[in-house]
Amino acid sequence: MSRNRIVIVGAGHAGGSAAALLRQYGHVGPITLIGDEPYLPYQRPPLSKAWLKGEAGEEALQLRPSEFYDTQSIVVRRGAVAAAIDRIAKTVVLSDGDTLPYDTLILATGARARSLPAPGADLEGVHALRTADDAEALKAHLIAGHRLIVVGGGYVGLEVAASARALGVEVTVIEREPRLLARVAGEALSGFFHAYHGARGVRFVLGGAVTAIEGADGRAAAVILDHGERLPCDTVLVGVGAIPNQELAAQAGLACQDGVVVNLAARTEDPAIYAIGDVTRRPLPLYDRSFRLESVPNALEQAKQAACDITGRPPPAPETPWFWSDQYDLKLQIAGLPFDVDHRVVRGDPSSGQFAVFHMKGDRIQAVEAVNSPAEFMGGRLLIGAGRPVSREKLADPAISMKEVAA
Ligand code: FAD
Repeated sequence: MSRNRIVIVGAGHAGGSAAALLRQYGHVGPITLIGDEPYLPYQRPPLSKAWLKGEAGEEALQLRPSEFYDTQSIVVRRGAVAAAIDRIAKTVVLSDGDTLPYDTLILATGARARSLPAPGADLEGVHALRTADDAEALKAHLIAGHRLIVVGGGYVGLEVAASARALGVEVTVIEREPRLLARVAGEALSGFFHAYHGARGVRFVLGGAVTAIEGADGRAAAVILDHGERLPCDTVLVGVGAIPNQELAAQAGLACQDGVVVNLAARTEDPAIYAIGDVTRRPLPLYDRSFRLESVPNALEQAKQAACDITGRPPPAPETPWFWSDQYDLKLQIAGLPFDVDHRVVRGDPSSGQFAVFHMKGDRIQAVEAVNSPAEFMGGRLLIGAGRPVSREKLADPAISMKEVAA
């Protein structure tokens, strides 16, 4: 297997990490990383946070310095688009006609921003946020006193709202659901973020759908809502979710169900093809269903699974999924997934900006949402993974340490 030629399609967080891990785990054969963006693998989280606020430079975005790829003999083909996979010939065909042979292929094509299905969504001044280029374009319009409308009250939308407020921008967030973070967080957390943003000057329209974006001189000038309201604006950010870039896999006949279907080793039904990161639908050891997760920890975990499987190492220990988000001075950390929950325990006082919500099934923690509470996050994550029962009374009492709760 040592001459195993590995081709990785997608030079993002998952693809870049897989290349590095393969070398770390002793793979000596050729590794080629194909990325359609003009950059080396970089991290996306700062694009809505520190980088957008001008607090982090370009070097802070890079996953690894450029010398790393040279010293590790990882060939990075930037600005190269993989157009097709030939599973019989075991080749990847690039859009410039070049053909790359592989013994093992890793698909790490990520996801793209979902666009808004409304007239005017293609006007100048309507932005998405997925890539460094998107962030650069948006940043140029985050000017003090300008009016930004954020469509979508999910994590990306709220992070941009927080960054924009820090820059003195007037921000309105429009969310179709009756509460923020409706798909991804419990009600207590939604309410907390609503209040926190509201106190910092963000205006919200909940339960409002955008029916059109009105232009003036070819630029977005107002957002029209389904109940008729017209909100004037200078810039619009559409943050309404992401769609997996699964077309390559689907055209190659690999099973896709809102994500390329993989197993616990990140392998597709073709033993020579793996898929990792945002593009996958994957099982999780703790749950009896499959998920498409969009997070850095998930991208890293699956990169590890694939690299272990390819290099013949034992698989990584079963993981508890987790995620983070930074807004203002708040660090939110979430572990686990809140399924089959019968009640919730709040530890700490939300009005203090430091608290945790534990989602419970009986005396077992299913998920924890921790705001500025790293001990609760760490403790909760360990307890979820271990599946150990806990006393709800102790959990609810911040005077009792998480160590004692777990004892
Ligand atoms: P990506 O990083 O999207 O990389 C995929 C790459 O493949 C892209 O460069 C894409 O252009 C390329 N590609 C696609 N098709 C082809 C092709 N045919 N040929 C060649 N190249 C191709 N996660 C967190 O855990 N915490 C956060 O706080 C957080 N904040 C975020 C903020 C923003 C603004 C965004 C956009 C995401 C954030 N995420 C966060 C999510 C996290 O960045 C993603 O989960 C992670 O980037 C997934 O890595 P990936 O490699 O699967 O996909």
